[in-house]
Amino acid sequence: MSQQASEETYEHYIGGEWTEGHGDETFESVDPSNQEVLGEFHRGTEQDVDEALAAAKEAEDEWASLSYIDRAEYLWDVYHELRERTDELGEVVTKECGKEISEGKADVVEAAHMVEWAAGNARHPHGDVVPSEIGSKDAYMRRKPRGVIGCITPWNFPVAIPFWHMALALVEGNTVVWKPAEQTPWCGQIIAEMLEDAGVPEGVFNMVQGFGDAGNAIVEDDRVDTVLFTGSSEVGHKIAGKVGGEPGKLAACEMGGKNGIVVTENADLDIAVHSAIMSSFKTTGQRCVSSERLIVHEDVYDEFKERYVELAKNVSVGDPLDEDTFMGPMVNEEQVEKFGKYNELAREEGANVLVDREELDDDEIPEGHDDGYWVGPFVYEVDYDEDLRCIQEEVFGPHVALIEYSGDMDRAMEIHNNTPYGLAGAVISEDYRQVNQFRDEAELGLAYGNLPCIGAEVQLPFGGVKKSGNGYPSAREAIEAVTERTAWTLNNSKDIE
Ligand code: NAD
Repeated sequence: MSQQASEETYEHYIGGEWTEGHGDETFESVDPSNQEVLGEFHRGTEQDVDEALAAAKEAEDEWASLSYIDRAEYLWDVYHELRERTDELGEVVTKECGKEISEGKADVVEAAHMVEWAAGNARHPHGDVVPSEIGSKDAYMRRKPRGVIGCITPWNFPVAIPFWHMALALVEGNTVVWKPAEQTPWCGQIIAEMLEDAGVPEGVFNMVQGFGDAGNAIVEDDRVDTVLFTGSSEVGHKIAGKVGGEPGKLAACEMGGKNGIVVTENADLDIAVHSAIMSSFKTTGQRCVSSERLIVHEDVYDEFKERYVELAKNVSVGDPLDEDTFMGPMVNEEQVEKFGKYNELAREEGANVLVDREELDDDEIPEGHDDGYWVGPFVYEVDYDEDLRCIQEEVFGPHVALIEYSGDMDRAMEIHNNTPYGLAGAVISEDYRQVNQFRDEAELGLAYGNLPCIGAEVQLPFGGVKKSGNGYPSAREAIEAVTERTAWTLNNSKDIE
């Protein structure tokens, strides 16, 4: 697909062919900064998913019979393409989902890191030699591909997350049927073209564009051995529930969070304010690790509040393609409405509003972008009460609560851990005991010390606990979701047991 929108209606990629599929509906990819239509796409149906799964099933044995290293060769081509086209693809990410251009490019770089890690993994040991109770017996743990992996991905990392799912699955010898998010089909199109250009054999990788109904068709089909899902808790829990009842089938779900940063009385406030601003507002608060709760000790509360609020009032909202922009638009009208509803709810629940940029002034909206989905930070302070929905439910926007606490680290941990989620969080403190207490007690999959709660490194497991994830984070640990283990024992003696 070229850099510019074209008259073509883009297709699904099934069994090594581009196809319109069986449905007669199409949908558009829209630039959230100005509502410009970027492209039109065929909407996948259950029948399209059925064909994609048939193709994946047929390709399964031959792909699995290749060596790890041969399979990885295809991925190395994709890696080089991602590296060479980072700027171009970063721009597509930004146009399609509205995040700032530095973040658009970072999305592509992270995808390249994941592909590099997965392809490199092909040359690493893949099993274990295990001691046996009998001296003459060898015992091994071997891994095999699970078969067909269904991948369902969100819009907010439209290049990186698909590769978190697919790169390892493919290297480990599985075939894949992928449904990209409906908000970012252009990124989906380009990824499919890359895998086609890399010569991945027909049927090994398949892509069906579309909405939740197509995703659901993947989830419900018996030919799928593992569903890899990243997205909202609402959808993830439905998927986990459906798949959970089927022995032999597995769902690895990475979902939302209500992330918090604990700023203790011993915090370096330069680090604290910077970390909180970055984590709350980059990507307009639409990252799974964004912080919507800042839990600040009473001794430093006033100074932290003053500095944080001053910056939140002034963060630049602008054209996401402009390198100087700190915050781009939200992804669509639905997200803007959700943000507005939670801001209203916070008011009803007693919030003292400190920054209200929900509706921006005309001069804050970049020229020529009047139709974009623009919002700014909404920041409030609230007396802590565990029943307040505004501090318990994920908004997925620049909606931030300041919560003052008194007492020791035990109290901070109590407030921090008292949400149904367990994705990401940070502690800011110069006291190593407090940092260590957070490390040990935070109910999280991703914990940060004296850092913005924002980044990911592909060699570390990335995923949540509690309502945020069901135990198969990306990277090395994701191998459990895309392989099966066999315990293999071999008798080396002539003895008959
Ligand atoms: P979403 O759940 O609305 O959609 C995710 C994907 O699921 C899309 O492809 C969608 O079409 C599909 N889908 C929707 N209904 C489905 C159904 N019934 N069956 C199968 N598939 C279905 O999420 P979103 O709005 O795209 O993404 C935002 C959410 O993702 C936030 O909650 C965010 O926290 C979360 N997220 C989590 C992580 C993580 O690693 N934990 C990373 C990024 C985003």
